[in-house]
Amino acid sequence: MSSRPIYLDCHATTPVDERVLAAMLPYFTENFGNPSSIGHVYGWKAEAAVKVAREILADAINATPEEIVFTSGATEANNLAIKGVAEAYFQKGQHIITVATEHSAVLDPCDYLKTLGFEITVLPVQKDGLIDLTQLEKAFRPETILVSVMAANNEIGVLQPLAEIGSRCRDAGILFHTDAAQAIGKIPFDVQGMKIDLMSLTAHKVYGPKGIGALYVRRRNPRVQLSPQQHGGGHERGMRSGTLYTPQIVGFGKAVEIALQEQATETQRISQLRQRLWENIQQIEGIYLNGHPTQRLPGNLNISIEGVDGSALLLGLQPIMAVSSGSACTSAKTSPSHVLTALGHSEQLAYASVRLGIGRFNTDEEIDQVAEHAIATIQSLRKQTSLVNIRS
Ligand SMILES: *Cc1c(COP(=O)(O)O)cnc(C)c1O
Repeated sequence: MSSRPIYLDCHATTPVDERVLAAMLPYFTENFGNPSSIGHVYGWKAEAAVKVAREILADAINATPEEIVFTSGATEANNLAIKGVAEAYFQKGQHIITVATEHSAVLDPCDYLKTLGFEITVLPVQKDGLIDLTQLEKAFRPETILVSVMAANNEIGVLQPLAEIGSRCRDAGILFHTDAAQAIGKIPFDVQGMKIDLMSLTAHKVYGPKGIGALYVRRRNPRVQLSPQQHGGGHERGMRSGTLYTPQIVGFGKAVEIALQEQATETQRISQLRQRLWENIQQIEGIYLNGHPTQRLPGNLNISIEGVDGSALLLGLQPIMAVSSGSACTSAKTSPSHVLTALGHSEQLAYASVRLGIGRFNTDEEIDQVAEHAIATIQSLRKQTSLVNIRS
């Protein structure tokens, strides 16, 4: 265990909190019933547990339990929201607005809809990663049916102005969807105040299990119509068929409950860790912070480093810290991060970037160790590069 690198990749996933696991375990064995079995106690037990989790999630975002649709994660929730709205509203219009820095689980469904004849406007972002609200409003058309803008970016942690977007969409009669996979449990949410109509959630970025998420679907003012993407037994009020995964749902509820209880103290503690790391690393020159300096997730630090090769940098950091050079979902490809290029970075600088995701289980000592090693690695790589330059 101790030989493993320090985990700083909390945007990719997080470990299941022991308290979450403890809450889940009885629902694999003793309480294994199908929540849809209404004729016996096995079903009732499972159904009661699902109800509790649904209420926790609804309360967390100021929604009602009937507005929570369980899915396999945020990817499925995004697909259900975007394709589900497109199919239900195509007679009203066939134009959707999204943003260049969205997760592929938003951009790819939009690309797919293009093949069916929908028009997609992909808004650029400003240098700090935020969208320009005037530009958003200019993109509105009479046939616009949906705006999809993420709550918190999975690479640069930037928090988009949800309430400002929501009120503009509501005034224009356009539905507003937000992918909140990175944000739930880390920043406060209020779907009423923020005028959010659809919101994607996932458990595994907030110390819950993988394979469970949810879509919030507004039922009133306005009532959102959604065309199901998975047909079957009519679970989740027909919006998502399939036997409910009780243990995962229980874990999701518990994870969000804990995150909300600890949100204030954790925000403060993790922000301090990030600040400590950033101040330390800044001792050397040619290091840039990507994304807005303050309007970002507490645990996110995304930096670009001048004068080093991206893959050599990652190799050098690997023994000490588990970090990512971009989104985990695109790190298998060798293209530069679409988020960093959207900020206006050159390909080379985009490659020479590191995403650090600090979380619940990181300590002061770990952060100091990481800073020390990162500085040493960068300095040694720069020395090598300058030697090569002298020789050639
Ligand atoms: C992780 C992530 C997803 C995908 O969520 P899954 O639950 O793994 O499908 C979608 N959007 C964002 C912003 C994410 O960070």
